[in-house]
Amino acid sequence: MNPSVYLVKGREKSLRRRHPWIFSRGIQRVEGKPALGQTVDVYDHQGQWLARGAFSPNSQIRVRVWSFEQEEIDVEFFKKRLQEAQGLRDTLAVRDGLTGYRLIAAESDGLPGITIDRYQDFMVCQLLSAGAEAQKQNLVDALVALHPECSIYERSDVSVRKKEGLKERTGVLHGDMPPASLVIEENGVKISVDIVGGHKTGFYLDQRDSREASVKYINGKRVLNCFCYTGGFGLYALKGGASEVINVDVSQPALDIAKANAEINGYDLSKAQFVNADVFKLLREYRDRGERFDVVIMDPPKFAESKSQLNGACRGYKDINMVAMQILKPGGTLLTYSCSGLMDNALFQKILADAALDAQRQVQFIERFEQAADHPLDSAYPEGFYLKGFACHVK
Ligand code: SAH
Repeated sequence: MNPSVYLVKGREKSLRRRHPWIFSRGIQRVEGKPALGQTVDVYDHQGQWLARGAFSPNSQIRVRVWSFEQEEIDVEFFKKRLQEAQGLRDTLAVRDGLTGYRLIAAESDGLPGITIDRYQDFMVCQLLSAGAEAQKQNLVDALVALHPECSIYERSDVSVRKKEGLKERTGVLHGDMPPASLVIEENGVKISVDIVGGHKTGFYLDQRDSREASVKYINGKRVLNCFCYTGGFGLYALKGGASEVINVDVSQPALDIAKANAEINGYDLSKAQFVNADVFKLLREYRDRGERFDVVIMDPPKFAESKSQLNGACRGYKDINMVAMQILKPGGTLLTYSCSGLMDNALFQKILADAALDAQRQVQFIERFEQAADHPLDSAYPEGFYLKGFACHVK
């Protein structure tokens, strides 16, 4: 018998809508002594069974639901979830020519706290919750059973694990150590990924659809690609026939891979520059010395990790977008993104409107972007939407 969690009256509503989180304030009492990440059964205040989830004694999110059915949370359960997720990815892999994609997008794929990215025959797991950690062996066994050709590597080096009472961890979970460079392909572009040393699990797969959508704005243009990481939008700009692409990042290892990526694709390196600089400073230098661009791409890291950081994040987004508008030629295009989940579409649009006023430029929104399709948004879990962007026609 699993330990039992009984909810405060009324707190079952979100579960009935299949939202997978139970906050500590929604819990009336706990029977039994669930350990970190142990599976518990959840009941409403009248004792009616609602769901089965993982207990997180140190987190405000006290339970994350594994299932709304009375099923065992074992290897078979994880195999089922992995197979459910695979169908969509197989379709996308064929459609977009992918050898790298997000296989499991946590809550949005019914596996709270678990992210799995596949790069060729390497699965890279990020386990963010106590439940994910407690189920690690079941998850690995399920992956090995379904994908015997794959090695599995853990990249759980993320600070949010502290909230769950977990230490950061990386290392091989099954099979081989990942090579320093593994080349994946998306939309006909080759990208070298450093699974062990790169950001997150090695690459920003979530911007794939936006990168492909950017190509139509690029032909013959002078492009400034801010926060380029390992090339990303800059590679697509070269594919799309840009006359010049300036790629900017503060990470020299990322810039080195960006250049190598341009080379392995056979792009004309004389059209590309890789600049190690702080975007905030460099944009002002460009503005002040009169450098102008046809297209500016602005894909910064997450500025807001928590609600308390949201105001500061708004100022940051407004600032870089204002200067980006100022260095665009009349009629230029700004492709701008925010991956801060706490900032919704409407707020980001408002910030861009404020930036336009301060930049004294007229801006028209001509296209909207979202996270790529292998980062789906489950209708029961709106928090899964985090990445948004706009193509702006800047007059
Ligand atoms: N556009 C990329 C992903 C960008 S991730 C892609 O499509 O793959 C954000 C990047 O911003 C990281 O590479 C990080 O090194 C860089 N970065 C963070 N702060 C920066 C700053 N102030 N100036 C320049 N680059 C910065």
